[in-house]
Amino acid sequence: MIDSTTRLSSVREVVAELRRRSAFVMVSHVKPDGDTLGAGLALGLALKRMGKRVAYFQQDAVPRNLRFLPDAELVARELPPDLPADTLYVFCDMSDWRRAGEYLPPVERENMLDIDHHLGNSLFGKLNFVLEDECSTGSVVMHLLRELGTPVDGRIATCILATIMTDTGGFMHSNTSPEALELAAELMRLGADKEEITEEIFLRKRVAAVRLLGRIIDTMRFEHGGRYCYAYVDDAMLAKTGADGEDTEDVVNTLLGQEGVDVAALFKAIEGEIRVSLRSSGRINVQSAAQRLGGGGHFRASGLTYHGSLGEAFSAVEAALVTEGL
Ligand code: 5GP
Ligand code: MN
Repeated sequence: MIDSTTRLSSVREVVAELRRRSAFVMVSHVKPDGDTLGAGLALGLALKRMGKRVAYFQQDAVPRNLRFLPDAELVARELPPDLPADTLYVFCDMSDWRRAGEYLPPVERENMLDIDHHLGNSLFGKLNFVLEDECSTGSVVMHLLRELGTPVDGRIATCILATIMTDTGGFMHSNTSPEALELAAELMRLGADKEEITEEIFLRKRVAAVRLLGRIIDTMRFEHGGRYCYAYVDDAMLAKTGADGEDTEDVVNTLLGQEGVDVAALFKAIEGEIRVSLRSSGRINVQSAAQRLGGGGHFRASGLTYHGSLGEAFSAVEAALVTEGL
């Protein structure tokens, strides 16, 4: 049954709802990134400036490189026990509310606001503010802040700029539009701390992470005339270097960045599970490849969980990529 509310909402409708409610829970997705978290923090900070009550929910811990964001220390897996009945749950940067994970107590659709920029958002909320042309969910939030008329202070500006820099890969991905750069400039003038974002999110690496990178690179193999590069990481490698799963996040991009490589895969055999990260330079659709094995994502970045041995995972992923034209 198609619900009559399954549609996009206007900025005015959303802002009217924000004004009407007294309390908010900003919800980020599992495996949080700078966009889901920064967008929620920015809107939360602005709502608090308006005298509203705000809590932040996120199933997973805040990644180390995002802990500098204002209010990040308030993010929790538990909700306050005394939230009023009119609490609005604001889901940032997710096509579906299920991406919030298993720990969020059931929320009535009536109390869901969906803010996103993904293609194919399922419009799951009572209100759905989805702007597919925006580079980040944070820049979607910026439309709301303008309509709300609350001052964007340096803390809020830092959160929004962090969303833009995260989702454009530090102004490198193809979504780095003139509008994205103009908004970034405006945010810097409002006091956003670009240096801190660059340092914390992109530059600083733990020594353990660099040591782990060395070990992962030792496992690297090339197939299909060097167009496909893959590598793996397992629990023993983490233990030897003192690194953890968080330190593996960026490695697949290093694999892809090598000359001649069209597709890269990193297999993470960690804690009894095999997670696979796929990246493409744009020729091969890794979203379709991942989907063949029960995963998903985007054309150039996707992932999946493989059930079986590491050797079987290597074969299955390569076969899926070959089907996509590798
Ligand atoms: P990552 O390699 O960073 O874990 O994931 C890259 C992208 O692929 C994510 O942004 C997400 O959109 C998607 N993705 C990763 N794992 C899965 C999965 O198991 N299922 C689906 N549907 N998408 C995934
Ligand atoms: Mn995003």
